[in-house]
Amino acid sequence: MIPIVPVHREGVRGQAQAADAFLLPGAIRLAALPPLTLYIHIPWCVRKCPYCDFNSHEHPEGAAHLPERAYLDALAFDLEGALPLIWGRRVHAVFLGGGTPSLLSSAAVEELLGMVRALVPLEADAEVTLEANPGTLEAGKFAGFRRAGITRLSVGVQSFNSAALARLGRIHDARLARAAVEAALASFENVNLDLMYGLPEQTLAEAHADLETALDYLPAHLSIYHLTLEPNTVFAKFPPSLPDDDSAATMQEDIERLTQERGFAQYEVSAYAQPGRQSRHNLNYWNFGDYLGIGAGAHSKISFSGRIVRQVRYRQPGSYLEHAAARSSLVAEEHEIEPRDLPFEFMLNALRLVDGFARARFSERTGLSGLEIAPMLEVAEAKGLLRTDPLRIWPTERGRRFLNDLQTLFMAD
Ligand code: SF4
Repeated sequence: MIPIVPVHREGVRGQAQAADAFLLPGAIRLAALPPLTLYIHIPWCVRKCPYCDFNSHEHPEGAAHLPERAYLDALAFDLEGALPLIWGRRVHAVFLGGGTPSLLSSAAVEELLGMVRALVPLEADAEVTLEANPGTLEAGKFAGFRRAGITRLSVGVQSFNSAALARLGRIHDARLARAAVEAALASFENVNLDLMYGLPEQTLAEAHADLETALDYLPAHLSIYHLTLEPNTVFAKFPPSLPDDDSAATMQEDIERLTQERGFAQYEVSAYAQPGRQSRHNLNYWNFGDYLGIGAGAHSKISFSGRIVRQVRYRQPGSYLEHAAARSSLVAEEHEIEPRDLPFEFMLNALRLVDGFARARFSERTGLSGLEIAPMLEVAEAKGLLRTDPLRIWPTERGRRFLNDLQTLFMAD
């Protein structure tokens, strides 16, 4: 890691000084900057799910008492402070993730998007996604988000089976899951449904039924994740009984077959889209594009012509709000990606894509010569994990199955 400037600098002025430092010639040379998206983190949830390792917190006084006003002010301060890092760059997509962004009122979302539009040049047809939890559904809420300027709703259904949802510790049941999907489809053309498989005690038939139900709704996009036990979660401490590897692999095969039969194309490990409905924000992320992340615990990756910088905001909502109120920097960690780490960082994202990436993109996004990865590509190809042609590089089916092994080949010694 290359620390560049001290991160405990004073607010907006400090970020401007940092931007000056970032603009100096660095260890790499980017011919052009990649597309930029904006991520806004809303860090609260009604209840913490036992499998979740995201930066999500139960508010001590309950979800009805979120400090919405203070958080909107903090986000405005955060974005203003970050502007010197992205001067003159257009924003292609906005993503409100969490946590549970659907805890916000539609008036708050409207104010937030108004603030974003006033401060950054947003593309006229920018995709603006909000993650919604079925457990936060209130009459008219999703329609209010649409009127506020959200163009794509991502509904965290996870399952349509009440027993499975209860075992996952979700705050909604099957009835609410269906009601949320129906409300989303009534207000939005562009709807993503999040599903999970490999759930505690889940049978093949139950996983299949969840998928059939999701597909019958004809959403624009499906994100289908395999439940994994992440460190520092309740499930890691008290592991539930999960389907074995063979069953999980059969569920995955069923997902790939059924989604394809219904006209969805898998374009990333967990993402399936109807034609033209890939998530622009996520695609940019997987293509090693840039993203500015604001809000508690949000991560950013910002490119300059001579370096690529990562930042993380203060993680605890209370700490983030305190720093914003004191008008001091919200950046808790910051480092420049060392050139030797860029091949791995690039591959960590790009090899998740089913079609891989154009050869030229590696140099465009990392500023490194393609020769840097030639030996690793040879090894990966010899192991049957990767295929290449003069224009593209993409993972084989085996490479996607053993993705960690494939990505690790690009790690610096
Ligand atoms: S609702 Fe989502 S972000 Fe919140 S705790 Fe559950 S999994 Fe985590």
